[in-house]
Amino acid sequence: MALLVQKYGGTSVGSIERIKAVAEKIIAYKNQGNDMVIVVSAMSGETNRLTDMAKQIDPAVRGRELDVLLTTGEQVTIALLSMALHKLGQPAVSYTGAQVKILTDNAYNKARILSIDSGNIQQDLAGGNVVVVAGFQGVDEKGNITTLGRGGSDTTGVALAAALKADECQIFTDVDGVYTTDPRVVPEARRLKKITFEEMLEMASLGSKVLQIRSVEFAGKYGVPLRVLSSFVEGEGTLITSENNEDDTVEQAVISGIAFNRDEAQLTINGVPDTPGVAYQILGPISDANIEVDMILQNVGADGTTDFTFTVNRNDYDMAFSILRKTLEKLGARVASGNNKIVKLSIVGVGMRSHAGIASKMFQILAKEGINILMISTSEIKISVVVEEKYLELGVRALHEGFDLAEK
Ligand code: ASP
Ligand code: MG
Repeated sequence: MALLVQKYGGTSVGSIERIKAVAEKIIAYKNQGNDMVIVVSAMSGETNRLTDMAKQIDPAVRGRELDVLLTTGEQVTIALLSMALHKLGQPAVSYTGAQVKILTDNAYNKARILSIDSGNIQQDLAGGNVVVVAGFQGVDEKGNITTLGRGGSDTTGVALAAALKADECQIFTDVDGVYTTDPRVVPEARRLKKITFEEMLEMASLGSKVLQIRSVEFAGKYGVPLRVLSSFVEGEGTLITSENNEDDTVEQAVISGIAFNRDEAQLTINGVPDTPGVAYQILGPISDANIEVDMILQNVGADGTTDFTFTVNRNDYDMAFSILRKTLEKLGARVASGNNKIVKLSIVGVGMRSHAGIASKMFQILAKEGINILMISTSEIKISVVVEEKYLELGVRALHEGFDLAEK
């Protein structure tokens, strides 16, 4: 008998009909002899609807009361799903995050889980119940309600699976797994049977939106086997797991996937003095404005000056540019320029560790298509390039084909 934690996302519980269908699905798993703990999101669109109402009162709304409001979305779903289970004759108990006690820090709107008291859940399971828990929420030490950031129900699922030592955490969503790349860009993209935590983390940070990044971090840290599956079509989905799984009969591909991110913008400042402290003088004010910097590139200095380029999210471009103009005057640099029509393409794979020449192969594939590379950055298991926006589709397709990722 297994203990399964299943998380159903907003579209999976988006209507009463769908909630009833989820209840039937859960009962089928239960009847196979599994203990079932279910985490649900708010019905699709609900969190946005609640946020919009709050913004009509204060466009800059944040903090405690926003969390009191947003957690109601998930509370509706746990009650409805439990009723649907009851109606089908299945005993079930619903819990809000606070009732479980999912203890978090007190960072409203983006709290982190500190601990989970699994006592109630264990007891209910022993009594034959399905346990239904509200995702995305917890409670701080003082009893204040908190939320875990958008998409946080994935993290609730993984954290519960870790606390209960579940056999698997299954994330049911509207896609049937993790793909080699976005099938909307490359129709030949292939569902991966398996991917490592590290690769999934890179894919998630590089723009693949299948799972909340924090949930993947959490699963990796606690070694929770994580599976992404569709609520709507049967299939085994994609298993996210540790690297050294002996049961690998198929030869491991060098590259697992291609990620891309459209929301990129690049800023450059030329002719800055090549002296200690310059990087800090340029990027300090940017980070003080809470703007996240992704890639950073500084040229080797010549004639006592150097050029400095970095990328930010496209939404932050205008603000970053105006900050950079001020820095330009201060430093007596020559010019500041920028480009917000750029994108980042990345190849990801743990196989890179043991294979040489992957970067040059990537550059060759792009060169053959006449795609100019503007910036490059690498880590142990990924290589990212910045290119002009108009090359996104072409670049992704060429890389997908060049690294032979399509169905064979
Ligand atoms: N309902 C929350 C959101 O839409 C949490 C979740 O769905 O994971 O972000
Ligand atoms: Mg979600």
